[in-house]
Amino acid sequence: MKLHNKVAIVTGAASGIGKQIALLYAKEGAKVVVSDLNFEGATKVMEEIKANGGNAISIKTNVALEEDIQNLIDTTVNTYGTVDILVNNAGIMDNFEPVGDIEDKNWEQIMAVNTTSVMRTSRKVIPIFLKKASGVIINIASAGGLNGARAGAAYTASKHAVIGLTKNTGFMYAQNGIRCNAIAPGAVETNISSTITHPDKFGAGRAYVGMATNPRIGKPEEIAQVALFLASDEASFVNGATIVVDGGWTAY
Ligand code: NAD
Repeated sequence: MKLHNKVAIVTGAASGIGKQIALLYAKEGAKVVVSDLNFEGATKVMEEIKANGGNAISIKTNVALEEDIQNLIDTTVNTYGTVDILVNNAGIMDNFEPVGDIEDKNWEQIMAVNTTSVMRTSRKVIPIFLKKASGVIINIASAGGLNGARAGAAYTASKHAVIGLTKNTGFMYAQNGIRCNAIAPGAVETNISSTITHPDKFGAGRAYVGMATNPRIGKPEEIAQVALFLASDEASFVNGATIVVDGGWTAY
């Protein structure tokens, strides 16, 4: 087992990519903290892990709230004694708005969930990681974090920021036994489109031009395999990197 006895937190783990990461990590021996705004969904994933003989707890977390982040990490440490792996996966789409059409409240919500949360969870685990000179952070970014129009302006900016934060964190703590990497998935079959509530016609039209070059839609399990590699010791020399997992979409 690649993660035997490791304590792993996965945010947004009730659905999609986060759910598959939580299930795979548990299968590989990790004690998994299944965290999500959707507590019922997180608890179902926790129950599935336990039914398969794994070890997990579920915690209700709105990653946009600092007090929920504090509670997430504190409860993890109180339950399992430490944190070894943090997967910042919770995320939402925008409505494909170009910059001319963004409303402040939408921009702020996307940034809070997709970007500020990653800084806050990382800020909270770094002292734990520094103390034991070991720890892994994996940030689920997006092909939209490397390219200009996979979504609207807010999502694109939020994921570019996550990739910048990943590089900075990876380099800053490189000599302290801490690794921080990002995954940039292409289009993956999950429930994220439910967060696109009122698509901007113009922006969606511009973004969808690029869909014509997408070879296929991926499965969340295919992203989880890369998250397992990055969390394991097999990735000991991988740090500050962004691994594109998109079936070749952005290779065009
Ligand atoms: P999903 O909607 O299936 O799962 C996301 C989960 O995050 C849900 O369970 C949701 O309840 C949770 N969540 C939403 N807001 C939250 C909040 N404020 N606090 C805590 N949890 C919250 O979507 P997914 O595609 O699995 O998304 C996971 C990550 O993958 C996101 O960061 C997303 O940006 C990224 N991503 C997805 C795709 C894709 O095509 N699906 C592509 C690139 C990147």
